[in-house]
Amino acid sequence: MRYSQLFGKTSKTAPADADSVNAQLLTKGGFIAKQMAGVYNYLPLGLRVLTKIQNIIREEMNAIGGNEILMPALTLEESYKETGRDVVLADILFKSEGRDGSKMVLNPTCEEVITPLVKKFVFSHRDLPLAVYQIQNKFRNEPRAKSGLLRGREFNMKDLYSFHKDENDLNEYYEKAKQAYFNIYNRVGLGDITVLTYASGGAFSKYSHEFQTLTDIGEDTIYLCEKCKVAVNKEIIDEQKACPSCGNKKLIEQKAVEVGNIFKLRTKFSDAFSFYYADENGKQKIVEMGTYGIGPSRLMGALVEVFHDDKGIIWPEAVAPYQYHLLTIGKEAEAAKAGEKLYADLLKKDTEVLYDDRDASPGAKLADADLLGIPTRLVISKKTLEKNSVEVKKRNEKEAKLVALSVIASEAKQSQT
Ligand code: ATP
Ligand code: MG
Repeated sequence: MRYSQLFGKTSKTAPADADSVNAQLLTKGGFIAKQMAGVYNYLPLGLRVLTKIQNIIREEMNAIGGNEILMPALTLEESYKETGRDVVLADILFKSEGRDGSKMVLNPTCEEVITPLVKKFVFSHRDLPLAVYQIQNKFRNEPRAKSGLLRGREFNMKDLYSFHKDENDLNEYYEKAKQAYFNIYNRVGLGDITVLTYASGGAFSKYSHEFQTLTDIGEDTIYLCEKCKVAVNKEIIDEQKACPSCGNKKLIEQKAVEVGNIFKLRTKFSDAFSFYYADENGKQKIVEMGTYGIGPSRLMGALVEVFHDDKGIIWPEAVAPYQYHLLTIGKEAEAAKAGEKLYADLLKKDTEVLYDDRDASPGAKLADADLLGIPTRLVISKKTLEKNSVEVKKRNEKEAKLVALSVIASEAKQSQT
């Protein structure tokens, strides 16, 4: 991509209302643009990052048998009356009304849609187990939308729902989903600082777990066992004062952001919608359910909170909008020509490259490269050309090295997408 043709430019200053590092850097870098409190546009660079995160999640959900679908955002309020969540979730539901007077809700999560939907197709034990997911925007009238992408009023969510014939089968699948979630955090680069957190919800909270990424901007307080990398959240610290894994009583208070939540719903929703299946003997039995949520947009914000320095973002390769940031320095026609040639060679190799082809000062180009945080920077100048080379520098390293122009394209990483 040529930077001169890219929609969305960098700016030197962040808007005064950008209340967090992720809001500031993503806005300055031209990744996102705020629409209103808690609602953002994703510009091309931001959409590339979001899509990469979604694709990692998609691969991991497919690997545990998830069927991807897309449900609507609008649902009749009646469905929420069936489960009582019109009352429980009253504060956060965005509501609307159709011309015919029908009352509607913008879904904050989709149990009220998926349960009646799956019920239309599942009748027998032969139809189970089943796992269905979507990646879609959700709407919540949060008391306080804040911290950029971390807490939005419209935000992106992957929500998977699983259906089982008994509790054992649900338990087995739950463990698989837990592992898939760890795979996701490892792949996006947050594995080392993301911990399994026992969440509130009944005795020893075996029904629900959160995945919490340790960072000071996090709104949640968790109590961490440093040996096991397992934590308990604030709601259960009173009932559970030791590490749920090893019994260690020395738990450390930490700030964290919830990046995922898995939950054994059991029969809460199948009861509400009378969702039964016929077992091997033709007997009607209630369906057991699990729900598994993760926020790709929140994850994108959390990644910036964790991976940045005073100059800008430092994207992990797996989620970076491009792998290479190519720029030329100096007015010499020779440098521009070599830049064009290398850009063409990299494209031929199917490499993800952003080429800063602007007629801008070296200082501006280098500062933008640091701000955008693309993992590998390639600089061509009169000096590098004297050695028939390009300067290669990783965004997360201090030292640069010279690599021969003749080999750089052939050694370049091919696009994974
Ligand atoms: P929180 O406790 O932070 O309000 P939650 O427990 O209500 O979140 P879930 O209903 O479990 O969240 O949603 C699943 C996932 O969706 C969360 O783990 C998080 O990653 C993401 N998420 C939830 N609310 C928001 C939001 N307002 N903005 C961005 N992402 C969100
Ligand atoms: Mg939560």
